[in-house]
Amino acid sequence: MQLYTKILIGLVLGVVCGFFANVLGIDWLQNFFIALEPLGTAFIRAITMIVIPLVVASLMVGTASLGDLAKLGRIGGKTIAYYMCTTAVAVTIGLVISNLVRPGGRIDESTRDSLSAQFDEEAAGAVTLADEAPGVVDTLLSLIPRNPVQAAAELDLLPLIFFTIIFAAAISVIAPNRRDAVITFFEGVNDACMVVIDWIMKTAPYAVFAIIAAVVSRFGMDLLQSLLIYTVTVAAGLLIHGFITYGLALRFLAKLNFFSFLKNVSNAPLVAFSTSSSAATLPVTMETAEERVGVSKSVSSFVLPLGATLNMDGTALYQAVAVMFIAQIYGLPLSLADQLIVVLTATLASIGAAGVPSAGIITLIIVLNAVGLGAHVQAGIALILGVDRILDMIRTAVNVTGDLTASAVVARSEGEKLELRPAKKKSDPQREERVPAGV
Ligand code: ASP
Repeated sequence: MQLYTKILIGLVLGVVCGFFANVLGIDWLQNFFIALEPLGTAFIRAITMIVIPLVVASLMVGTASLGDLAKLGRIGGKTIAYYMCTTAVAVTIGLVISNLVRPGGRIDESTRDSLSAQFDEEAAGAVTLADEAPGVVDTLLSLIPRNPVQAAAELDLLPLIFFTIIFAAAISVIAPNRRDAVITFFEGVNDACMVVIDWIMKTAPYAVFAIIAAVVSRFGMDLLQSLLIYTVTVAAGLLIHGFITYGLALRFLAKLNFFSFLKNVSNAPLVAFSTSSSAATLPVTMETAEERVGVSKSVSSFVLPLGATLNMDGTALYQAVAVMFIAQIYGLPLSLADQLIVVLTATLASIGAAGVPSAGIITLIIVLNAVGLGAHVQAGIALILGVDRILDMIRTAVNVTGDLTASAVVARSEGEKLELRPAKKKSDPQREERVPAGV
């Protein structure tokens, strides 16, 4: 059985078990599933543990093998332009669908106020976090790390990418015998990271079960009922973007069939769905792009870590619907000009969001303030917080699918021959070449 089938089974079983325990109110079973959660946390920690060595090693090898820094500049330009365009499309889909469905027009005032009151304290925490966010100049300056080790320790990927590219560029101009030694070292580190990822992924089906069963067991089903239209609107927008925008980009730009692509890469969105973190999923995303789609290391090692931090189409779409929902529910409709501001600010806010759970709800505050909903920030955030976890799962899966799609599009534009291929068997010669004898 393929790994993605096993992960899917873990996920479905998790939903079913958690749902029964929750809906039937079986306390001991709910507590049992919640007690299993550390198994899922262990998986998330283990996969996150490999992010830094993998990003550094893979970017060293990828950049050094480009041989030509102008090519890196070109790939960078294309990647960022593609990311901005797809994110703007995602926000537009979010706005169109919320204008059509008007999810905020369907909730009465008393439900609104009781939901806001229930999550008021948590919302206040999010507002404080957003207030502490640095300004534009500081953000740009922080791209240059004072200490790359500190950036690595804090899982701060952008400054680490900056440092690694400079370092790899320097390696490419030193004496050939030393250069080859350094590159061979990082190739070895990269291969070892891939082996560790394979080991960790063997536990993914059980971990996914543990995470999902715990989340569903403690989920407030009554909240889901009151916010059903909002939840369905966000989910529908995300599905439209995931299937239509990415389907078209893959078909016309990467020349790949969307469904075959999805089948091949599904490990990554499934892990993203379960962990709600693009950053934690990054090792799986990189391995999947290289091994299952045939994207070269020089493209994947650059496009994907950048995507995990900058490219969040799902988050941006969700922010567009959330702003419209909050505006509608407080009877403050947004004009066309306001909605254009949403396109701009939600695109930027999603870039600013870190690839970790719930990051999108914090940067949503920027969008709410930009369209003059500042007075309703805390109450508005409190209103939607109860269903945020479930929406975070779906939007993170879309974010990661968007990164994978981008890697295929950029690779194709660089003339790479992409090939969707099934998981390698243990006896695969390429795999054997990677694994040192005795492992
Ligand atoms: N959890 C999302 C991610 O990691 C970010 C967010 O929308 O909260 O991609």
